[in-house]
Amino acid sequence: MIDYEPVIGMEVHAELLTESKMFCKCKVDFGGAPNSRVCPVCLGLPGSLPVANEKAVEYVVRAALALNCTISEESLFHRKNYFYPDMAKNYQISQYDFPIGSNGWIDITVDGDTRRIRIRRVHLEEDTGKLIHAGGNESLVDYNRSGLPLMEVVTEADIHSAEEAREYLVRLRAILTYLGVNDGKMEEGSLRCEPNISIRQKGTAKLGTKTELKNLNSFRAVFSGVQYETERQTNVLNEGGKVIQETRRWDDANNRTASMRVKELEQEYRYFPDPDLVALHFTTDYIERQRSILPELPDEKKTRLMEKWGLPAYDAEIITDSRAMADFFEETVEHCPDAKTVSNWIMGDLAKLLNAAGLDISDCKVKPVDFARMLTLIQEGTISGKIAKGVFDDMFETGKAPDAIVKSGGMTQISDEHEILGVIDRVLGENSEAVAKIAAGDMKPMGFLVGQIMRHTQGRANPEVVNRLLKKRVAEPAN
Ligand SMILES: [Zn+2]
Repeated sequence: MIDYEPVIGMEVHAELLTESKMFCKCKVDFGGAPNSRVCPVCLGLPGSLPVANEKAVEYVVRAALALNCTISEESLFHRKNYFYPDMAKNYQISQYDFPIGSNGWIDITVDGDTRRIRIRRVHLEEDTGKLIHAGGNESLVDYNRSGLPLMEVVTEADIHSAEEAREYLVRLRAILTYLGVNDGKMEEGSLRCEPNISIRQKGTAKLGTKTELKNLNSFRAVFSGVQYETERQTNVLNEGGKVIQETRRWDDANNRTASMRVKELEQEYRYFPDPDLVALHFTTDYIERQRSILPELPDEKKTRLMEKWGLPAYDAEIITDSRAMADFFEETVEHCPDAKTVSNWIMGDLAKLLNAAGLDISDCKVKPVDFARMLTLIQEGTISGKIAKGVFDDMFETGKAPDAIVKSGGMTQISDEHEILGVIDRVLGENSEAVAKIAAGDMKPMGFLVGQIMRHTQGRANPEVVNRLLKKRVAEPAN
């Protein structure tokens, strides 16, 4: 058996958050009645003329700068010719040899190792319409998406595992959402990923034949798709076969890839400059102005959270994967400065609830100030950590403030020694066997007794007080 390693390049398509389409005034939106946002330009009617969207150009320049790219002084739109019914013009306006940005990079960290993934190019193009297969021999087409501004980010083949592929996408998504140029909603298709994958013998430089996976729209699909394709190609070669250059799709239900079509060659697109569009010229002034308005980006924020709040690198990395999550963290620590506790709750309980509800943190009903208050209630001993989980579930569900929930639910922690002693004595009286064992020197039943006390108080007894008083009681019984 030969030891192979995958060599992966990524193409990511990101819809830009402009108000209008790339070359016409139609509104950009998600959903809505089919073909309700169309005009002669985005329907490709003869005689209609495209005009480039200035905002979209600006967004791509900003993204390219954030990805450490060089901005071309001159950039051109090309026509990419091919026939497909979701594209009425029979060509897509894209960019070819003069993309807006080139030669950038993103640093990613996997298992504590930081690696640089080079960005080959960042360019601007238009999206196509959407085909809806209506069953039988019928297909319908919706041109609402036709002509939406689409940014394409292409890496060099610097990625060497499914983990790296996923992490690259996580960091790229973070950068684009911090910039506010893309909403990061992969499930709605506004961020789509197409990895091309080949394998080569470890330690050698010669590249194998690559396959391309189409339109992956979740981190899981990217991870599983790359992993499956690496294994599939390894098996093909180990069995003496040959990998065919082709486009494959990810079949989520069956957890496998399947062949779609043998890949077109680039020359078949017959790229040529679009005669209806003028070239873009970027002056140094313009580029520097765009650079000066870049917001704080994920890597800078990560460093700042580590320095200002003493967060470990691992926590800071996860918290800064989403701008909304980083904002939530920062607002919370303003009111509850125990940063590690805050990040533990965000990465643990909050992430779990958001996942289960299929919500993004920006849609979360819990306000950071209430979240901080709940953590303070635990620290002050008003509620136990265990009770807090229930309180937090309620806050997540209803958006209510923690004090109101604790008060109405009678969830306040019991720290009163007299009250707790009463419960201890009752429990000891009910469990004479356990008490006898302890008296004989076997301390094992202690945990059981603590459990009984907590049960009698619906989990409200302060565990520290319970443990202390119980130890005292079994050592020197009452009477
Ligand atoms: Zn239009």
